[in-house]
Amino acid sequence: MKEIKEDKEEFDVKYIKELDEYFTAYMSALINEIFVGVGINLGLSEKKAYSLAKNDPEKLEKAKFFSSIFDKFKGIFNYKVPKFRYKKKIYGDGKPMTPVQWDTFNNSIDSFWKDRANAVAEDLAVKSHELGKQTTEYRKTKKPYKNKSLQQVDFEQYDGKMPSTFSDAYKKYDFGNKEKQNLNKEFSSVAMYVTKTNDDIKEAIRQNIQIGMDENKSPQSIASDLYWNIEKNENLNNKYTAESLRRNWSRVASTELATIYNNATLQEFEDDAMKSLKASSKSVYFVRTGGNCKWCLSVRGTIVRLVPNEIVTDTKNESLRSMGIKDPHTDIAIWIGKNNVGLKEKDWMISVPGHPNNVATFSPIDLGKEEYNPKTDDVEKKQEKDKYIPQQIDYAERSKEEKDARKPTFVGANLVRMNNSVYEAVDSEDYKKKKAKWDKDPSLPIPVNKNSTDFKQIFDEAEKNR
Ligand SMILES: [Zn+2]
Repeated sequence: MKEIKEDKEEFDVKYIKELDEYFTAYMSALINEIFVGVGINLGLSEKKAYSLAKNDPEKLEKAKFFSSIFDKFKGIFNYKVPKFRYKKKIYGDGKPMTPVQWDTFNNSIDSFWKDRANAVAEDLAVKSHELGKQTTEYRKTKKPYKNKSLQQVDFEQYDGKMPSTFSDAYKKYDFGNKEKQNLNKEFSSVAMYVTKTNDDIKEAIRQNIQIGMDENKSPQSIASDLYWNIEKNENLNNKYTAESLRRNWSRVASTELATIYNNATLQEFEDDAMKSLKASSKSVYFVRTGGNCKWCLSVRGTIVRLVPNEIVTDTKNESLRSMGIKDPHTDIAIWIGKNNVGLKEKDWMISVPGHPNNVATFSPIDLGKEEYNPKTDDVEKKQEKDKYIPQQIDYAERSKEEKDARKPTFVGANLVRMNNSVYEAVDSEDYKKKKAKWDKDPSLPIPVNKNSTDFKQIFDEAEKNR
């Protein structure tokens, strides 16, 4: 039984969890440096300023600093965290700063924050998206993936060169127009939070200094308030300390990454979702898995069907019927970008993430062959009662849709569907191993040696149907 924690949910896929970990650590380090710089400006020694940033004076216990995290990911990320130092005194010479002086000070924070935070945010958005697509690929090929590290995925799937910018990703990989639109929309949401955090930092410093002046506090005690605000000054909104800014950021980062990641896992099914409007045999179903809070537990195992965004006219209504779709398996529609932002808990729809800090996911399910197992919270193959039932051949006139389903069509980078079977292109040196596996488990894609004539027939034909 998984441990149930209500406040913090954790991704059960290691590589996305690690990405989240880096993103949070890097941005927290930037926030820290700004506050350390301000502390020094207010008269603290550098040592004292850093130790305040690291230690909660209430508990006097060392908080984890970030160097171990940066070390762990240094093969993937090389973003620097420089020092923030502002030379002109912002408090302490008896005169409040003029608006022009505040502007200059704020500009120095902007220039420290913006370029770095934006670059990292873009990198992380691109990587979450890539990882989401990768997860779909792993699931499809039934490969174990949950324990793969970010470094491993980067090495195995991207030759150690996972893209870090949109232009990089668009150049190297095929992106459909809709996919680009989705990703752009998601990134602008992250970028908005990056800007908002920048504004919150400036506001936090301005307010703390203003209140310090009004109350004749010493610069050192203002500096200490900036970090922790242990006196819980009633006039100060709690969000205006380094600690709460970091915590707030961490929540936002996890939620945004989860959004991009999960949307990307659905990307590849969008075509079929569109086709399913005309041919129900194309319908794509998912099960909501993961998430440890009460709400998530109550909706675990819910079956949903993916629909294309185009038919969603009311984003607060998830009923398939309301969209004119009658489905025997579920009435709940999901679409890329579905979310619960702005909804009260009682009105939450089945989405991932469903709430801030949520790490639930949609696992694809083939309702004919698979079922949801509440014990493992995962999709598993149905227990077969009979060993092998030969498929009945239907000689009746075939519909256009059926004929289309019989044509070889790419359903993944190395996978082609033809006559209701899925074939996987395999290098000749791997063929024997794959074949042996498939002999044991015929539900796997049928391996096809790249050097064989079968390969040409299936995959070249599929290339034409792209
Ligand atoms: Zn939850």
